[in-house]
Amino acid sequence: MKSGGGSGRTDVTAEYVVVGAGITGASIAAHLAGRGAPPLILEAGQPGCGATRVSGGMVRGYDPDPTTAELASSSIARYAEPSGWNTGVAPLHRVGAVTLAWLDQSEDLRRAQGELRAASGLDAHVVSDAGGSEVAGVRLAGAVALVEPTAGYVDPVSVTRLFVRQAVRDGSRLMTGTRLEAVSGTGGRILLRCAGLTVRARIVVLALGGWTSRPPSGVHVVGALIGTRSIQACVIRRPIGVPPHTTFVDLRTGCYGRPMTGRRSLIGFPLTVWGVDPDSDPAADIGHHRRTLEEVRRFLPWVPRGQTVRLVRSFDGYCDKADLLLRTRSPGVWSVRVGNGGGVRVAPELGRRVAEQLLARPDA
Ligand SMILES: Cc1cc2nc3c(=O)[nH]c(=O)nc-3n(C[C@H](O)[C@H](O)[C@H](O)COP(=O)(O)OP(=O)(O)OC[C@H]3O[C@@H](n4cnc5c(N)ncnc54)[C@H](O)[C@@H]3O)c2cc1C
Repeated sequence: MKSGGGSGRTDVTAEYVVVGAGITGASIAAHLAGRGAPPLILEAGQPGCGATRVSGGMVRGYDPDPTTAELASSSIARYAEPSGWNTGVAPLHRVGAVTLAWLDQSEDLRRAQGELRAASGLDAHVVSDAGGSEVAGVRLAGAVALVEPTAGYVDPVSVTRLFVRQAVRDGSRLMTGTRLEAVSGTGGRILLRCAGLTVRARIVVLALGGWTSRPPSGVHVVGALIGTRSIQACVIRRPIGVPPHTTFVDLRTGCYGRPMTGRRSLIGFPLTVWGVDPDSDPAADIGHHRRTLEEVRRFLPWVPRGQTVRLVRSFDGYCDKADLLLRTRSPGVWSVRVGNGGGVRVAPELGRRVAEQLLARPDA
């Protein structure tokens, strides 16, 4: 990476540039750096300041979407392995994960249980509600459930910082408070314009999360529809005497929850508002919060006695394509798969595969 100056702008040259240091961009940067191709990282705010900042961080191997399931089941192993992290501590809080589904989805869950065991060695079993059944503090509420005792949750911001630290240790440079405004040129001679900074790069990876729906000037993602969708969750203090519970998601309604440190739990219920302006900061929807509490009490009966500590409203990027790397009209400039509401549980494996795909094609 070389730096120079002139006309009030600083010029930097880099072989690889990753734009966006959410959990996705940070993982890609760490994997590129670990393979001898340390990228320059440009981040508009601070690492993990986007959707990653408020994420629930639940990780489980199963997902109805096969691409997500495949990435997520490999990622759990990485989250659970202490030796893969600078700190020597695995980020995974192994409180388990329960996925609730309609009774007629039993066969799908049993198949998934077999696949998790065969492909990733992950422990999983299926249970059905026998009237008031509960798994690790979560009522099954008439569902059939896939239980993954070795899954759980991570702190998404800490993981993002760990990835960034790993990338910097392996030669990357991080520029925070640096928003990419415009892209011009093509393969080999790409020009990235930020306020007060011009970067010349060969390969650029955009990991902008929901901001990809309104990309920097000159970027046109090819063949994919990318939008933003609201996500609202809340933090509830559990009444005295109520122990922590496992993480859960109800596929029938989208309701989910996980324990946090202390006596708190994070719970959420889909708030389907599309086309969120990534730079706006909409107020929490109180009506939706009431519906969330109503819905989640079926699984966590203590919720009406709990105290709401905080409402969290944010958004994530959603895309209609499964590709990990999407082409843009500028050769050498790639846009990475957006989170689709589950970017944390796929980040370690997605970062590895994206880095390997980029390094496998020198003409990328
Ligand atoms: C309330 C909530 C709960 C969630 N719960 C879960 C969960 O339990 N499990 C799970 O797996 N997922 C969950 N998600 C989804 C998950 O958090 C996201 O999919 C993931 O964090 C997306 O990461 P990202 O790096 O792709 O995007 P982001 O974290 O949004 O990062 C994008 C980064 O790009 C930067 N950026 C944008 N534009 C520019 C620019 N022009 N120049 C420079 N930098 C730029 C931004 O500042 C930001 O830091 C949840 C999300 C929310 C909001």
